[in-house]
Amino acid sequence: MKNLNEIPVTDVKGVGAETAKTLKELDIETVADLLFNFPYRYEDYRLRDLSEVAHEERVTVQGEVLTEPTLAYYGRKKSKLSFRVASGHQVVKVDFFNQPYIKGKLAVGDEVTISGKWDKGRAQITASKYKKGHQTAEEALEGVYRLKGTIRNKTLLKFTVAAFDTYGDDIVEILPEKWLQKYQLISRKEAVQFLHFPKNPEDLKQARRRMVYEEFLLFQLKMQLFRKIERERSGGVSIDYDVNDLRHYIESLPFPLTDAQKRVVNEICGDMKSHFHMNRLLQGDVGSGKTVVASIALYAAAKSGFQGALMVPTEILAEQHANSLVDLLQPFDVTVGLLTSSVKGKRRREMLALLADGQIDVLVGTHALIQEEVVFQKLGLVITDEQHRFGVEQRRVLREKGTYPDVLFMTATPIPRTLAITAFGEMDVSIIDELPAGRKQIETYWVKHQMLDRVIGFIEQEILKGRQAYVICPLIEESEKLDVQNAIDVYNILNGKWNGKHSAGLMHGKLLPADKDQIMRDFNDHKIDCLVSTTVVEVGVNVPNATMMVIYDADRFGLAQLHQLRGRVGRGAEQSYCVLIADPKTEVGKERMTIMTETNDGFVVSERDLELRGPGDFFGKKQSGIPEFKVADMVHDYRVLEIARQDAVDIIYHEGFLETEEYAPLRAFLEANGVFGEQKLD
Ligand code: ADP
Ligand code: MG
Repeated sequence: MKNLNEIPVTDVKGVGAETAKTLKELDIETVADLLFNFPYRYEDYRLRDLSEVAHEERVTVQGEVLTEPTLAYYGRKKSKLSFRVASGHQVVKVDFFNQPYIKGKLAVGDEVTISGKWDKGRAQITASKYKKGHQTAEEALEGVYRLKGTIRNKTLLKFTVAAFDTYGDDIVEILPEKWLQKYQLISRKEAVQFLHFPKNPEDLKQARRRMVYEEFLLFQLKMQLFRKIERERSGGVSIDYDVNDLRHYIESLPFPLTDAQKRVVNEICGDMKSHFHMNRLLQGDVGSGKTVVASIALYAAAKSGFQGALMVPTEILAEQHANSLVDLLQPFDVTVGLLTSSVKGKRRREMLALLADGQIDVLVGTHALIQEEVVFQKLGLVITDEQHRFGVEQRRVLREKGTYPDVLFMTATPIPRTLAITAFGEMDVSIIDELPAGRKQIETYWVKHQMLDRVIGFIEQEILKGRQAYVICPLIEESEKLDVQNAIDVYNILNGKWNGKHSAGLMHGKLLPADKDQIMRDFNDHKIDCLVSTTVVEVGVNVPNATMMVIYDADRFGLAQLHQLRGRVGRGAEQSYCVLIADPKTEVGKERMTIMTETNDGFVVSERDLELRGPGDFFGKKQSGIPEFKVADMVHDYRVLEIARQDAVDIIYHEGFLETEEYAPLRAFLEANGVFGEQKLD
């Protein structure tokens, strides 16, 4: 059997060196690339009963040329070629504009197929395409491919036909018969054939079903193998805490855990106790109580003789988390240390010495923690906060630091499940889907820019009540200058109005890190009433006295981001508000603003965001770790994704994937396609 990945596309009939260059722009270099480059849509040339075709719809008719084609010129270089065609019982008038050369090719009595736009009243077709004779079944649905350079759709289709004729039989089945039977899937070869040359919509449907399943299954197999290898890597720590002692800690918290918190604590502690490496994602909306959960895990680690680390994106967050953890853990003789870049000189050396000596149980710091010369005596647990921006690779680097501690990733961006199991497919996922009782809902309003004055009045009211406010301006990545200007303008307007009565602070990307920290601290200490900021206020910042979040040009943000920002308020006992200022131009834009005013539930917001923007944009521009599928669509095919995931787990854990003959073609395929990457199957 030939490996189509190794046969250059120039071996396909008709593809020369020049064409190969153009194809390369489409990432087509081998026969496999060509055969698996599928159309993204199909032109429908199927014949229909003319009485069912609506005015101005596209139509294809077949019949006999009744009248001699006549050519009329008008204007400069403009022409119209007209003739009549008998199609069934109906006579149809056909007009071709500006294609005079067709005249010589058609004569009375010829059988033709004509496609174009239907004028119902005049029984006329403004034709765009003709073919002498009748079209074949495969021509009725014509694949439309992504194109680049000079290559035309017809040409690409021709090459694909040639490739399939020569190499079609080398497209071997990789799925075991059992799975094909179970889901009634067509063969791999047929699926490729039907995706390129479908005879009818049913072909297409079956081909898609097969390919969607295959793509998801291959991807999930990769993720699950990765997960298995990671979990079972030798040297995993077992954090053997005392259950009763841990229960005592939990009972002495100032509040009972929510059911969701209890559930995730069980999941996390189960992982910690086992010899497997924990590799878990903890999702929970802002304020759902993740920090408390983290403290429980850290407590368990510390009391079992291990050290724990908590890493967060910014120094200010590190300080906040350290304070919370000191309050929670210190009464139980768990020592908490803070290591940021402002801990310097002698103090830093002392801190590092204490850490190496095992006298600090829990270390809090920024992500720089793992990159620096920090040595733990016995690191058993690493928790990171807000890590969703990191792709699979970065997450692996983190896990492989030093020994292999248990790792818990926390994120406050609710990630729709479909995305979670793709972007984080190699991880286990825990979800806190419940807020502690008695939380006040944040009231969200959407207003137009012309209401700015009233919004400022609203801010002032809150300030007079002793509260604080944020005004966030969007980060326009292409134009940082404009972006800063926006914030400065708003800041100046506020100062102009308030004239020293209330204090505003300004924060943007051009400030030095130390200045940014100072401003955040001043806001935290209520030296600033209203903070105007371009840089998205540090995720996770906690200033409970802030009750108002105003977002300028809110339509420039993703919904998940807006929800994150909104989560900066509503952290204290007072009623909080979120005001979105935006004049969206599109219906989708308006819908997005409306969604924000309708729900406070982060998971609802993120599901809607995914529907509206698609998976590629969900995590923003940064590396998302989301793979590109050729046929499958994570949003629309999510049910198949769930099934494929479960099947992948079954195949790997119960079906003897690595041993049995049944899976040999699948194993060979995965290996040949480098799906295992650097990973070794040992
Ligand atoms: P997150 O990190 O998920 O945003 P936190 O852990 O900071 O949330 O919790 C937000 C607030 O809710 C904190 O003040 C915390 O003390 C409180 N909290 C956490 N869990 C509960 C609970 N089960 N009942 C009541 N309050 C809680
Ligand atoms: Mg938090």
